[in-house]
Amino acid sequence: MKLWNFHGGLRLDGHKQDSTQLPPRTAALPARLVYPLPQRGGVLAQAQVAIGERVLKNQVIARDPLDQQPPLHAASSGFVVAIEALPLPHPSGLSDLCLVIETDGADEALACSGVEDFRQHPPAALRRLIHEAGIVGLGGAAFPTARKIAPGSRPIDTLILNGAECEPYITCDDSLLRHHAAAVLAGGAILRHILGAGRVWLAVENERTEALAALRSAQAGGTGDIEIVPVPTLYPTGGEKQLIQVLTGREVPNHGLPADIGVACLNVGTAAAVYRAVVHGQPLIERIVTVTGRGVREPRNFLARIGTPIADLIGQAGGYTEAAERLILGGPMMGHALPRDDLPLVKAANCLLIAGRGEFLAETRALPCIRCGACAEVCPIHLLPQQLYWYSRSGQLERAADHQLSACIECGCCDVACPSRIPLVQHFRAAKGLAAAKQREREHADHARQRHEARAARKAEEQRERAAAAQRRKANLDKAAAVKEALARAKQKRATKAPTPSPEPHPADSEASEP
Ligand code: SF4
Ligand code: SF4
Repeated sequence: MKLWNFHGGLRLDGHKQDSTQLPPRTAALPARLVYPLPQRGGVLAQAQVAIGERVLKNQVIARDPLDQQPPLHAASSGFVVAIEALPLPHPSGLSDLCLVIETDGADEALACSGVEDFRQHPPAALRRLIHEAGIVGLGGAAFPTARKIAPGSRPIDTLILNGAECEPYITCDDSLLRHHAAAVLAGGAILRHILGAGRVWLAVENERTEALAALRSAQAGGTGDIEIVPVPTLYPTGGEKQLIQVLTGREVPNHGLPADIGVACLNVGTAAAVYRAVVHGQPLIERIVTVTGRGVREPRNFLARIGTPIADLIGQAGGYTEAAERLILGGPMMGHALPRDDLPLVKAANCLLIAGRGEFLAETRALPCIRCGACAEVCPIHLLPQQLYWYSRSGQLERAADHQLSACIECGCCDVACPSRIPLVQHFRAAKGLAAAKQREREHADHARQRHEARAARKAEEQRERAAAAQRRKANLDKAAAVKEALARAKQKRATKAPTPSPEPHPADSEASEP
């Protein structure tokens, strides 16, 4: 099949073998499971259980009151011991409400049942089922899957299952494909049915030979007409927009969505979760996560329950090495440093990278920009990182916005290419944060202005109504006075016109009338 190229990109040392030498392992049941209630989009899920209550595995424990985000489910049985502010797995280190379950070891579960033949069910019913199962994109973005596969303005002709795990160190998708290829293909068939897509491609980097072999052997078992497509191992091929371009030659517009060009792109882990939810009725309570880097003794993949403390997983991977220096959630290019390890594993967590000293983050002082243009050469979005850097650094956010700062996918290619070691992405993230804060401020100011204008309009309207009422009252009074006056005049007139008594006949008249 014909493949296209995208602009820029980098060939990076993958370090994939670090975590695939040992077989994946099911992580042990932790003593506590912690579920942050803040969800994507600033939504705060509301607890559906009370402190002291016993919950069962698979039970819904928290729900978005607006139902935009899918619910959270307990990953094991136990007691709710707290709903309190705890640190979140976020670079800010901020705390927010979390629901804590102390597991009881019984792992007692609510019974689950899926649908017998998904083809007999309308897409809307299957989407609802996927939503209720708590499924979000497992590639790292955690966007609600049911919303991603909802009907849009144009039909979807192409479904892409994204197994191109291009960022170094991360191997959770590779591990899934090697060991659960049939579940991914079955999930792809369900998603195709829901989307009504004409064709389905499953993209895997051409260097992931074991995963490709596992997929082909699962296909030989009769799992449908999904085309397996090896794609070049070039970072960031696994980025949604880049992968769509590589496979279809179509470009997703900068501020658009794949659906705008008739494409849906879902991570392979998400497809497997859809299969388990639809066919077995299982909610999303666990995921495969890579624990790797020179800072951990036994790098490997774990099938871990959502809510498991990160420190537990690192402990099960042999613990930290002496070289351990930095804990990163995600990969070295797009991941975020975490300030501590007593944080829970969330659905979006694909990798815990414990970087050893000097492993990839050599702390060298940034030198001035020499305008070499190397950053622009590697940018897959055709941006001008040096310009963005200049505008971000000098606080010229509007100029940065004109240069499409918001389109930057923070892939980090420019960082790696920069000979002056300028931490470009850090500047872009900071500028985006500032722009978002200013936007929020503007929105607040707009709301305040709208409220003020509405109040002023209301007051003016009230004043107009009062004046009109006063006028009406005055008019009524005038009218009443006029009527009164008219009546008085009429009365007076009547009085002046009152019939005078008939005059006595004049004697002369009588005489004159006599014969
Ligand atoms: S690569 Fe670095 S030094 Fe070269 S133009 Fe870009 S920011 Fe400047
Ligand atoms: S981080 Fe942004 S500006 Fe830099 S290469 Fe990636 S997309 Fe381009």
